[in-house]
Amino acid sequence: MKYVLIIPDGCADQPQASLDGRTPLQAAQLPAMDQVARAGVVGAANHVPPHLPPGSDVANMSLLGYDPNQFFSGRAPLEAAAQGIELGPNDWAIRCNLVCIQQQIMRDFTAGHISTAEAQALLATANEQLTDPRLEFIPGVSYRNLLVYRGADDLPPPFSMETSSTPPHDLTDHSVLDAYPAGLGSDLLCQLMNDSLTWFQDHPVNAQRVAAGKPPATNVWLWGLGKQPNLPRFQDQFGVRGVMITAVDLLRGLAKLVGWDLITIPTATGYLDTDYAAKGRAAVEALDRYDFVTVHIEAPDEASHQGWADEKIKAIEEIDRHIVAPVWQRLQQESEWRIMVTPDHPTLLSTKTHSHGVVPFAVAGSNVKPDGLNTYDEAMAEQSALQFPRGWELMPWFLNR
Ligand SMILES: [Zn+2]
Repeated sequence: MKYVLIIPDGCADQPQASLDGRTPLQAAQLPAMDQVARAGVVGAANHVPPHLPPGSDVANMSLLGYDPNQFFSGRAPLEAAAQGIELGPNDWAIRCNLVCIQQQIMRDFTAGHISTAEAQALLATANEQLTDPRLEFIPGVSYRNLLVYRGADDLPPPFSMETSSTPPHDLTDHSVLDAYPAGLGSDLLCQLMNDSLTWFQDHPVNAQRVAAGKPPATNVWLWGLGKQPNLPRFQDQFGVRGVMITAVDLLRGLAKLVGWDLITIPTATGYLDTDYAAKGRAAVEALDRYDFVTVHIEAPDEASHQGWADEKIKAIEEIDRHIVAPVWQRLQQESEWRIMVTPDHPTLLSTKTHSHGVVPFAVAGSNVKPDGLNTYDEAMAEQSALQFPRGWELMPWFLNR
């Protein structure tokens, strides 16, 4: 049996006045996703337990069939895994965004999608300024970087799982004053966030950015801290060998931790300009070698974070045309197969951020009887008798286990 999971990140949304009361999924032209719905079933799943934050980390963990109540231990450790950073039992990974904050307002949680080279230069300066040898900034891609704290057995834990922090993409256009970390170890994180203002203020990278009319990276924003989760291998859990196609570190780390291979597409960006067609081709080719192929596309989420309805629709339509359609065609060559299209969580244009709540899924393929629901969207999923309030139970159902 061949399985394909296609994740248009954050594509679920609410009806929009600007779209005549339709959601982006309803407003978009989605012949391939509607074909999946028509040939199979549509339902709804909730991947984020109410007490956990509606991040892609929690939601995708559930989507892959792992109960986040049991396994979620922070976002940054997943990204550390993606970068091949080994975390010991006393080590903590902390996500480090380069952000632009002006007059205490989060102007840009990406610091203008700062380049990787610029981020490296800023974090090299930050590392020079650190006085605690247990701390190290580790550059990643663009504004997405890490801080690692190396603990020791004979030291008290620096943080706890209750140490709270705020994702900077939840703060766009809002005051950051009430959003600083709180709880055990938060004083250290707040200190670093404040110190970085001084480190970066007159940095040549920022001087050049301002001269070019770009937003400066005013400081680091620390969040998403955690320790490495102990995830059982997907193959041991479900008996199939998986591969992940994504441009996002979080998803790469999750895939690595469940024992999947990774396919990297040089022209996939994790943004609106990603190479949809290359991802579709990679998924089609991967079906020759793997039982379970997952394609994750970040673009609808990014469009939502900017509040751009048109770009969100366009991103979902590109996924439909360049990924779902060719994968569907390729699957027809198999005797036994199943496909699922679903995002991880809703990302709302109205608030420019992730939300709790259910997301629609469409599943078609071997032994899936059509349920008469013919389009892939939120309203159709709401009508369905197929509801997974415990979203992590969707994966075993999809795998027919
Ligand atoms: Zn997401």
